Amino acid sequence: MSDLPYPTRQNYWNGRPQPSSSTAFQTIDPSTAKPLADVHTASHADIDAAIASAASAFPSWSTTPPTQRARILLAAVALLRARNDELARVETHDTGKPFSETSTVDVVTGTDVLEYFAHLVAGGGLNGETTQLRPDAWVYTRKEALGVCVGIGAWNYPLQIALWKAAPCLAAGNCMVYKPSEVTPLHGMLLAQVFSEAGLPDGVFNIVNGGGEVGAYLTAHPSVAKVSFTGQVATGQKVAASAAGGMKYVTMELGGKSPLLVLEDCEVENAVDGAMMANFFSTGQVCTNGTRVFVPEGMKERFEKKLLEKMEYIRAGDVMDHNTNFGPLVGKVHYEKVMGYIKHGVEADKAKLLYGGPEKPVFPDGTAEALKQGFWVRPTIFTDCTDDMRIVREEIFGPVMTILTYKTVEEAIERANDTSLGLAAGIFTRDLNLAHTVVAQLQAGITWINSWGESPAEMSVGGWKQSGVGVENGRRGIEAWVRNKSTLVDMSGSVASVFSKL
Ligand code: NAD
Repeated sequence: MSDLPYPTRQNYWNGRPQPSSSTAFQTIDPSTAKPLADVHTASHADIDAAIASAASAFPSWSTTPPTQRARILLAAVALLRARNDELARVETHDTGKPFSETSTVDVVTGTDVLEYFAHLVAGGGLNGETTQLRPDAWVYTRKEALGVCVGIGAWNYPLQIALWKAAPCLAAGNCMVYKPSEVTPLHGMLLAQVFSEAGLPDGVFNIVNGGGEVGAYLTAHPSVAKVSFTGQVATGQKVAASAAGGMKYVTMELGGKSPLLVLEDCEVENAVDGAMMANFFSTGQVCTNGTRVFVPEGMKERFEKKLLEKMEYIRAGDVMDHNTNFGPLVGKVHYEKVMGYIKHGVEADKAKLLYGGPEKPVFPDGTAEALKQGFWVRPTIFTDCTDDMRIVREEIFGPVMTILTYKTVEEAIERANDTSLGLAAGIFTRDLNLAHTVVAQLQAGITWINSWGESPAEMSVGGWKQSGVGVENGRRGIEAWVRNKSTLVDMSGSVASVFSKL
């Protein structure tokens, strides 16, 4: 028995936790760097067993009527909502994100998507089409489940990412083997237990824990029909290449370096709020972050003044305190990466530091000692940036805003699009005609007008260019989990054949 705060996390298949004889690793609380739990790494034999468990559940689950599947998923929705705070606490400990955030966003937005897809399939969302060809012939289509699907998650929204993949996957009649990020694995077994408690048949949702090696074994597995991946572009390239070897379906939700365009006529305070949400929410560890903030030359002073006023509302501290709205970075490796970029911005890019920088943040009295070993950085703003700087070009995935000025809207659009990434983009303006014209020219899959970051279940989201393949959520989200079968029916009694005319 370990004396860590959380019980050991095992792998999960056949509807129950499965002890493993293989090695274990630890997950830590990023706010203090203290270990939270031991986690069993899945061996190849464990992964094979989890996939076999999913494969044996598939024939029955895929032929269960959608309304019955929906009933079970909605029972899971009720359990998740009832346990919101308990699950949010786990997410806060594992990720370092403040409880004020995880209790209002993470569990909520994951659960909403499960509810959405349950209703979608119960309401006919898996229906095919009928096309009348001739009076005595027609074509009909069916949307059929794919089989055993793999989900691989990033560490920034652990439970939410797991649910965004599991919800459409299971609703469409597939079975899933899910691998949480090894950085934030605590939620995995809890989610599997919720599904089992809700009545999900054994084997429909399974968890295997571990790092890249476990992920690589999953993506290459011959019994897997699809891989849905969330993570970095470089990892996504490996995953897509591996999946292509088996001609598997893929969904790729990858990184970004998104532009936020502030227009001359905008409501400045609203734009500043948007820029802050787009850079400092979740300590900047959000894939859609609007890290390149384009501001008209003439507005720069006003914009920065308001921004600096509002920066005083960012509060680091005890992550369970309701007043804390800014947590640490997720761990040591990521801390060193983000800190490396902040130092590079100052020393090599020679950008002007408007706020923050490489020093540790200031904590409220009484919390400083406990948080001393945690992976804290200060929210940081660089201004007078140029397009060629590394801090402007590369995804930092931390609380680092770069401000760039522009002269004309056309120039801003061109510079906004000058990146190999295309996840998100947004614009702040009162001129709605102009807003739609600009949005139409922005090369990104997720765009906002006078808003930033909201991603409701109804909204299909996915990146363009190197930022991804396919979408999650919304009506289009279900299509990534089914394959089409077209059937031509001829009632004429005479097969149209070139041979009959010989
Ligand atoms: P990562 O690529 O390091 O890891 C993601 C997952 O891939 C982990 O579970 C990891 O174990 C696994 N993995 C590593 N090597 C693998 C391999 N060879 N084969 C299979 N799996 C492998 O990403 P991360 O650091 O956990 O997450 C941060 C990144 O995720 C950022 O770039 C962020 O923008 C992106 N992200 C994108 C979205 C989106 O919806 N577009 C959402 C959240 C995060």
